[in-house]
Amino acid sequence: MSTSRHIIRGSTQVVGLIGWPVEHSVSPPMHNAAFAELGLDWCYVPLPVHPDRVPEALLGAVALGLRGFNATVPHKEALVPLVDTLTDAARAIGAVNTVLLKDGKAVGHNTDAGGFLRALNDAGFDPQGCSALVLGAGGAARAVVYALATSHARVTILNRTPTKAIALAAEFSPVSPRARLQGGPLDESPIQQASLGVNLVVNTTPLGMWTRSSRIADAEHDEISPWPETVPFPREALLMDLIYNPRETPLMRQALQAGARACDGLSMLVHQGAEAFTLWTGQDAPVDVMMAACVAILGGE
Ligand code: NAP
Repeated sequence: MSTSRHIIRGSTQVVGLIGWPVEHSVSPPMHNAAFAELGLDWCYVPLPVHPDRVPEALLGAVALGLRGFNATVPHKEALVPLVDTLTDAARAIGAVNTVLLKDGKAVGHNTDAGGFLRALNDAGFDPQGCSALVLGAGGAARAVVYALATSHARVTILNRTPTKAIALAAEFSPVSPRARLQGGPLDESPIQQASLGVNLVVNTTPLGMWTRSSRIADAEHDEISPWPETVPFPREALLMDLIYNPRETPLMRQALQAGARACDGLSMLVHQGAEAFTLWTGQDAPVDVMMAACVAILGGE
């Protein structure tokens, strides 16, 4: 990793992250480490934007000459009708996590789906035609289910609010005539049923994630898992938990104890960032350096 200090000057190209809040994001150190590694005169800044002010933020980014920005919760959906053009993935997922600004125009991309597929690849998992169980049906699940549908997978989506899972399955079924999608409730019996013969389990719920307060004050909160203790975790399956803080969740421990393989969401985070980096700079991203920058903050390997 380059250690020389980057001086911000008049020629420095600026990108950033809009969200509310943004102060705990690892994206600034991750991208700035990548710029330093390649010796690029770029910088990545956190930009807290109130949910009521996303249209102004986009106009402001264009006016200020930013090269682009990432968007996180809760702005990914709000950007969809605001950008000038959407990629097919961003339109289908209904969320923009990366904006490319060029010649005064904003192109909305979604790099979460590609990041998820690259993370599966890193884990040595081929999703083509696989049988997957997705826990949760929120924003992250949309990118995951879209990615799995493009891989012609059989996907069961189980969610606390079952109507959302059923609607998500119906919405993404046309993505591939060879994909088979269905939705249901996140309850013991459907989890048991869906786990039979499954190759991949993806947790897209925040259950098990450290919150700012829980890390310090409420250790028991960290021990929550969406997987019931009464249902054996399928030992032949790969678990991908989209949570990366902590690096090992209670669900990951359940999977590992059952003899299954488990990985957290850091690889997906890094790969979605790497795809954005390449869109902005036109250069291959130094993925290992980006991963190391995140690990330095979050811990683990
Ligand atoms: P979201 O849109 O708010 O969706 C949350 C989902 O989890 C919903 O389906 C919700 O069910 C369910 N859920 C929430 N609390 C629950 C509870 N107590 N019991 C059962 N189900 C519950 O959030 P999101 O943006 O999809 O993010 C979800 C997780 O993915 C977060 O941990 C986030 O950090 C992670 N993530 C990781 C990456 C990565 O790159 N690794 C990228 C994006 C997101 P209802 O529909 O019933 O409310």
